[in-house]
Amino acid sequence: MSQGEETAISECEVSNPFVEVQNRIAVICRRLNISEGIKDRLKVCQRELIINFPVRMDDSSLKMFTGYRIQHSNIRGPAKGGIRYHPDVTLDDARALAALMTLKAAVVNIPYGGAKGAVACKPETMSQNELERLTRRYASEISLLIGPESDIPAPDVGTNAQVMAWIMDTYSMNKGYSVLGVVTGKPLEIGGSKGRFEATGRGCMICARLASKQAGINFEGATVAVQGFGKVGSVVARLMAREGCKVIAISDVKGGIYNSNGLDVESVYSNCKETGSVVDYKDAERITNAELLAIDCDILVPAALEGQICKDNAAAVKAKLIIEGANGPTTTEADNILSDKGIFIVPDILANAGGVVVSYFEWVQGLQAFFWNENEVNQRLEEIMDNAFHEVLEIKEREKTDMRTAAYMLAIDRVVSAMMIRGIYP
Ligand code: NAD
Repeated sequence: MSQGEETAISECEVSNPFVEVQNRIAVICRRLNISEGIKDRLKVCQRELIINFPVRMDDSSLKMFTGYRIQHSNIRGPAKGGIRYHPDVTLDDARALAALMTLKAAVVNIPYGGAKGAVACKPETMSQNELERLTRRYASEISLLIGPESDIPAPDVGTNAQVMAWIMDTYSMNKGYSVLGVVTGKPLEIGGSKGRFEATGRGCMICARLASKQAGINFEGATVAVQGFGKVGSVVARLMAREGCKVIAISDVKGGIYNSNGLDVESVYSNCKETGSVVDYKDAERITNAELLAIDCDILVPAALEGQICKDNAAAVKAKLIIEGANGPTTTEADNILSDKGIFIVPDILANAGGVVVSYFEWVQGLQAFFWNENEVNQRLEEIMDNAFHEVLEIKEREKTDMRTAAYMLAIDRVVSAMMIRGIYP
């Protein structure tokens, strides 16, 4: 394979992630004896905005883009969820991710509903000026929905703190004053929270540590493979290495690297910063993403995109424990195969909830204009993740089920309780 080229990024056919989430919600509603009407309400998104908008490119041409902002639910509080910039993103992807956000906020018991936004674009091929114009136009279009009391975006795949800064600035310019609470994941200089950048990865690491006990793995010295080396994957790999785990494989969209003696993750990280990918790292063997998922290791962390572990490759997974850093990385068919193999899975709505937890802290700090130190942030995050993990584990054991079913049961029960107490308007 030539450098920088990945021949088979995923062996999986593209499945519809929204149908997957809807089916999972339906199964859990049946298990919880929830009425048809309530189940039907949970299966759809409350508000869906589709926008087609022009952006002036650097060569003066005009290019049309399609974007979405979807609010799945605001029953437990303002809708909350990231914004994705990716060429293949669809309306159903945004719907699925919005629904997962509702469930995630409920699992960790923070007062949010769920939302997601997306623009079909290739950010890595655009200049900073083009990205800024795209972001500001998209932010204006979705300002019909977003706001600190209604719907609060954050970074996701292909977006970052700078994109959040442009959204915050655009929204604030139209209001006439600075609105810190309109987005989270902002740079520290304009009201970001200490610890937010690492929060999703830190939450995954905390779950990995807690789940290792359940899966009979000695966390210190555990072998780890991480798919995706972006905002989530790179932090998970670095934190797990710092905790004494042996990270033996890492990948990104261009391919993967492997070293059975353990990779020097800090050195992979700095090399990746320079070259834009992990694949050029010298002290390792080149592998494909498909090979990474099948590597013999204790802990596998899929932290790239959805649908990566499917019916075609699940049987090859050898890890004892899977920590879902990405949203929806495992299809339902794969889930069944992995369960039959006895693999312990910490599902996305729990494993990667650290990001939304510290986003919540950032929003609270912004509303109060009172900022916490990093220790306070990390301690409170640890407390919430620890509680949520044990609440889910308790349901898993009581109901003799798996962690995903238990997490969905906890989340749906909380959302439905709030729905019943609020009642149906009018
Ligand atoms: P990112 O854009 O920062 O990084 C994505 C990484 O995945 C990059 O290394 C990219 O090269 C790699 N990648 C993309 N497609 C791939 C493929 N097909 N195979 C292998 N690698 C691939 O995105 P991120 O913010 O790290 O998000 C990753 C996942 O985590 C997504 O599913 C996202 O929804 C989820 N998530 C992110 C956050 C957050 O705070 N950023 C919070 C919760 C969940």
